[in-house]
Amino acid sequence: LKKIAVLTSGGDAPGMNAAIRAVVRTCVYHGIVCIGVRRGYKGMVDGDFVEMHARSVNNIINKGGTMLHSARCKEFMTKEGRKQAFENLSKESVNALIVIGGDGSFKGALRFNAEFGISVMGIPGTIDNDIYGTTHTIGYDTALNTVVEAIDKIRDTAFSHDRLFFVEVMGRDAGYIALNAGVGAGAEEILVPEENLGLDRLLESLKRSRNSGKMSSIVVVAEGDKTGKSVFELKEYVEQNMPDYDVRVSVLGHIQRGGTPSCFDRVLASRMGVRAVESLLESRGGYMVGILDDSMELTPLEKAIKGHSSINEDLLRVSDIITV
Ligand code: ADP
Repeated sequence: LKKIAVLTSGGDAPGMNAAIRAVVRTCVYHGIVCIGVRRGYKGMVDGDFVEMHARSVNNIINKGGTMLHSARCKEFMTKEGRKQAFENLSKESVNALIVIGGDGSFKGALRFNAEFGISVMGIPGTIDNDIYGTTHTIGYDTALNTVVEAIDKIRDTAFSHDRLFFVEVMGRDAGYIALNAGVGAGAEEILVPEENLGLDRLLESLKRSRNSGKMSSIVVVAEGDKTGKSVFELKEYVEQNMPDYDVRVSVLGHIQRGGTPSCFDRVLASRMGVRAVESLLESRGGYMVGILDDSMELTPLEKAIKGHSSINEDLLRVSDIITV
């Protein structure tokens, strides 16, 4: 193994830079050349490469986003696109690839590996935390803190005006952000994609807490919540059934992706970066590095993509109890 390429792909997440930094410096430490690929798979198809040195990654451990840029790449979904990418890597004599991204990026990496035999290693970078084989993905902890901070601010105004707020958070398929930030921010109810808790239940809960003297409330709703209703439809529904409640909506949107990575994400990304390079040095390709029980563990990429972790029922119960 002489030359490793590293890229960030799909949705960006805070801490990706810390992962790039760790990959580059581990390469330098072991005397391997590291090539940065700009804009994910697009840069591989276009041959947009930059040689990375220890000093190329100065002052990025504390920065959100990704210095290598990220992209979604249609060409890489085609055989011709992937062939072009392989030829570009071959020209540079790259023999292994580290992909920092989510499950879509891992699917691409696996296909690339199956077709051209190049060793690939995945590092899970996504705020959604929806990847099997790791209890935490890079960026998830930072996103939780961002969401909690935003809801704290919404709570001030909800309290002052006796209002009910529906707060939409990211998570089309996974309720990790909604559930954990919801508990952390003291939300009255939390609606997630994994389980339909029902509109009747929501209404009952809101009525019960009103009757017990609670004048304002926060309901956290994941984008893909299973009631199938948008936050605006939920607002209408409650307004129709509780006409004297002043209901508002706040969609947090892209602020959830940005910002300074938390210490947890920086440490996680650093550990994953080192382990990814060292696993390639041990000739272990086709895996994802994850954190399980505070230890760096490898999971076959195939499994990381297909495996499913279910919603934390205990946390749902905790949420029910502490919002009584
Ligand atoms: P994420 O990695 O955050 O889940 P995407 O799902 O957008 O993000 O995937 C990122 C990129 O990975 C896509 O734009 C595409 O280039 C590549 N990709 C995703 N799925 C496949 C696939 N089945 N085959 C080949 N490439 C894929």
